[in-house]
This record gives sequence, C-alpha cells and structure tokens, in this order.
Amino acid sequence: MNILSNYNKTELRQYLVEKYQVKPFVADQVYGWILKGKNFSEMTNVSLALRDKFAQDNIAVGVEIIEKKVSELDGTEKFLYRLWDGNIIEGVLMKYKYGNTLCVSTQVGCRMGCKFCASTLDGLIRNLSSGEILGQVLAVNALGGGERYVTNIVLMGSGEPLDNFDNVVKFLRDVSAQEGLNISQRNISLSTCGLVEQMDKLADLGLSVNLTISLHNASDEKRQLIMPIANKYSVEEISQSARRYFEKTHRRVIFEYTLIDGNNDSYADALRLASVVRNMSSHVNLIRLNPVKERKLRATSDANAKKFLGYLEKQGVSATLRRQMGVDIDGACGQLRRKYMEDNKVE
Ligand code: SAH
Repeated sequence: MNILSNYNKTELRQYLVEKYQVKPFVADQVYGWILKGKNFSEMTNVSLALRDKFAQDNIAVGVEIIEKKVSELDGTEKFLYRLWDGNIIEGVLMKYKYGNTLCVSTQVGCRMGCKFCASTLDGLIRNLSSGEILGQVLAVNALGGGERYVTNIVLMGSGEPLDNFDNVVKFLRDVSAQEGLNISQRNISLSTCGLVEQMDKLADLGLSVNLTISLHNASDEKRQLIMPIANKYSVEEISQSARRYFEKTHRRVIFEYTLIDGNNDSYADALRLASVVRNMSSHVNLIRLNPVKERKLRATSDANAKKFLGYLEKQGVSATLRRQMGVDIDGACGQLRRKYMEDNKVE
C-alpha cells in the first residue's frame, strides 16, 4: 500500500509528476489537503480523474480515526485509529495550559516485552511507516479543527521508537519541516526503553528532540525482572549514552520511572536512582503504574509515591510526580485497543 503522508512536499511533487504526469502545482494542492488531514473525497480542487486513479492504484492518505472518547474529568481525548490493513492503534491527546500534547504510536504491538506494559502482550505485529505516524497527528488536527491543534508530540504510544529507527527519524524530520506541520523538534519527546546504540545514533543526527528514557529501576538485576532489554544494556551504559545525548544536543534528558508497589518504590530504590541521575543534566518523571489486567503488578499508593518524590528531592534530584490523565475513559496504556479488539473479536 502506498500512503501519501509518507512523502514530504518535495518527494510528493516528484512522485505525482513522474507517476501521473500532473503539474507541480497540482501535487502541491494534494499536499495541502494531506496536511489538513483530508481524505480524497474532500480534495475538491483536485480532478476526479486523478482521485479515481489514486483509488484504483490502492493509494491511501494516512490513517483514519474510528473512535474518540473525551474525559469528563480533564478533557483528555483518546482515539482509535484504523490502518490501511485493518490493524488498530490508539492515541491520547492531553490538554495543558501551554498547548495540546499528542501521544503517538510507532509500531503495532512491541517486541520489548516489558512486564507492566499492555502494548507488548501480543509481541510486535509490524512497524508503522513515517506517514502512519504523521497520519495520527494529521487526523487529530483535522478533528480538532486546525493544523495548529496539536502543539506537542510524545512518542510514547505503542511500540519502541528506536526499534523502528529510520521511519521514526523520517517522521521527526517531516513533522518539524517548515513546509510540513512545522512543529518544533523542541516540542517533541522520543521515549525509549534504552537501546543504547540507537540512542547514540540519534544523538549524531543533529536533531533537537527531547530524549526520554524508561528506566523504572536503577539496579540492573531488578530492572532485568521487569524489562528484558536490561539483559542487553546495563544502567551504566544507558546513563553514559544519556550524557552523550546531552553533550551533543544540549537537551536535558528525562528519565521515566513508573512506580510499582513493592517492586521499585523503596527508600533504597530512590537512593540508587538518585545516584544514577544526579550527576547529569536530567529530570525524573514519576508516574504510578496503570495496572494492566493481564499482569499481577500493582500501583504504588498515592502516599507512597509522594514519599518517593520526597526522597529524590532530598537527594537533590529534579523530579515531578505526574498526575494520571483521562482515567475515566479507559485503563492502562494500550488497554483501549485491547478492549476494542476483544469487543469486536479481532484476532
Ligand atoms: N517503548 C518506549 C515508548 C512506549 S512506552 C519506552 O519504553 O519508553 C511509553 C512509556 O509508558 C514508558 O515510559 C513505559 O515504560 C510507560 N508505561 C508502559 N506501560 C505502563 C503502565 N501500565 N503504567 C505506567 N506506565 C507505563
């Protein structure tokens, strides 16, 4: 399947001029519609003949939103998207004073196998193309009423972004291009479970996206129990790579730390975490586990999470305890998709 949102403005011009012998300005008109998240039937100034050819050639625009839920508590929006091959992914839009942050997926499923995460329960199904990642932003903008609706992006939906490196980098370039959506790379955060070689490769590209590392435990042994990738890369290797990322990009690295009851939330755990992150320009984001019903892990209590934050602050660590958003519209990350699959008996 050929997806038009895979192309940036220059590439689309080249492709449509070569394949369909259209004038460059026609290609630019099509590009303008794609940026607005419109489908073929809405491209009113593009000839029907050309649109028919797209349909015959099995060309899609991007991704399609099939369900939207809005939280009554905080306005958080959750979306289900359908891909051209029938696969389903989900996304979340969180509303803040400074703008709207969209959480995008980079793969259908994931092969990293983290024990607390719903996205990994069925393994990796497939990578998303750059245009399918961009398509999530375009579709949400179109529903929200304008190209500036999504102001910030986090690559924290299903999938491991650095396990789909080339498509993710193409997405980062296209979404931040001036003639594209022009979202500043400083407003984009890429979250990884810590693939050290790819983190280094990313640092060398000269982008200015923020790097977020899912640490969840500062002890190698204990991290291995919840994150299989910890058998490949040690916490020390990750922290050295984080330092290199900062030196090259001057972007402060964020560590994600999901608090799991009796697993990583003790005073000793906090001290170990502090010793890893204290000596670099970094910030720790604490979040209480969103329990996944297929797993036995439980969330740390609210009181204990606040205590843990206090331990870190006493150690001089910059940290925040994030509030959970949109808790009334489904369970954990990845759960909306699973519920849809179960309700519709999708294998
Ligand atoms: N693979 C990437 C990005 C996807 S996960 C990564 O590992 O960072 C995005 C974030 O959500 C990660 O920090 C991940 O550890 C966290 N996460 C996954 N499942 C969660 C759950 N059930 N509760 C809380 N955080 C979770």
